[in-house]
Amino acid sequence: MNNTTAYPPCPDVALIKGDGIGPEIADASVKIVEAAGAKINWIPAFAGMACLETHGSPLPQETIDTLEKCGLALKSPLATPIGAGFRSINVSLRKHFDLYANLRPARTIPGVPCRYDNVDLVLVRENTEGMYSGIEHYIDAERSAAESIAIVTRKSSERIVRFALQYARDNNRKKVTIVHKANILKMTSGLFLDVGREVAQDFPDIECNDMIVDATAMRMVVNPESFDVMVTTNLFGDILSDLAAGLIGGLGVAPAANIGADGRAIFEAVHGTAPDIAGKGIGNPSGLCLSACLLLDHIGQTEVASRVREGIKNALSRPETRTGDLGGKANTAQFADAVIRAMG
Ligand code: ATP
Repeated sequence: MNNTTAYPPCPDVALIKGDGIGPEIADASVKIVEAAGAKINWIPAFAGMACLETHGSPLPQETIDTLEKCGLALKSPLATPIGAGFRSINVSLRKHFDLYANLRPARTIPGVPCRYDNVDLVLVRENTEGMYSGIEHYIDAERSAAESIAIVTRKSSERIVRFALQYARDNNRKKVTIVHKANILKMTSGLFLDVGREVAQDFPDIECNDMIVDATAMRMVVNPESFDVMVTTNLFGDILSDLAAGLIGGLGVAPAANIGADGRAIFEAVHGTAPDIAGKGIGNPSGLCLSACLLLDHIGQTEVASRVREGIKNALSRPETRTGDLGGKANTAQFADAVIRAMG
């Protein structure tokens, strides 16, 4: 991954076990990556609904300090408390640490039920601005209309497209597609596209094209294997990254990373807390564990990451070792043991 930061042989990584099935899938993921030989010093950190009860806040200062010190975290899903005054913890973390790049690889895993057998794309989403700038209001007390402002800056556009191109170069990818809506959103999306094309000049070794977002959505469904790396603004990236997860069998097997400057990053499962099955020990840890693989790549432990991916691929290929959400018979612990047995 695009990371020139040098890490110690056994770096500190904050572990946020989160809510719902979070603790179960976090324990399974840690067990798997440790069995694969990962050298990580896990530092417990707390956030989410359970944390509100134990620490009086869903995101205590103590957790921010731990993340600040480690610069790296593996995070299970968090429930955001309902009610005024609580903003999304995920959004708060991304903003606080300026984790501007959301990386969502989507690759077909043999055996996982889905419509395609050859998807291998990486979606890079700008994480800090666009339609999610947080500037919106009703125009009057009757709420007869509401307005929202999208902010797209040259600086953020430049760094996210550069991130995508550098990712392509570092990971032996051939093509980056800039996804936009510059035909209608002439200034916001237009600026993103113009800056993207400029930045692409610095990467003559990577093919760079662009595509309008609606055409992109259709093409992803009709011909997903035609995409390699894709880069886009916040809202389009949010939608298309879930579409990409759907192409490979759903959110349960989709990893994600939020990456900032100086090697800071939070790796997370993209599914929710699955409250309906929490505490039953049947959650699928694949998404979180594949996110831990992105963490291992990020800190230079790539061979360990490959071992874990191989184990997950093998365990998911057989119904008896797959978890129930994928039509299998295994519970979380049985799946973790199967992954460990199946690692090369
Ligand atoms: P939240 O409010 O946290 O988003 P949710 O129930 O609305 O929770 P998800 O947590 O994403 O949304 O769950 C959607 C469905 O997918 C649920 O039926 C849940 O049990 C299932 N699910 C999600 N993640 C997993 C997983 N890792 N393993 C097994 N089932 C899962």
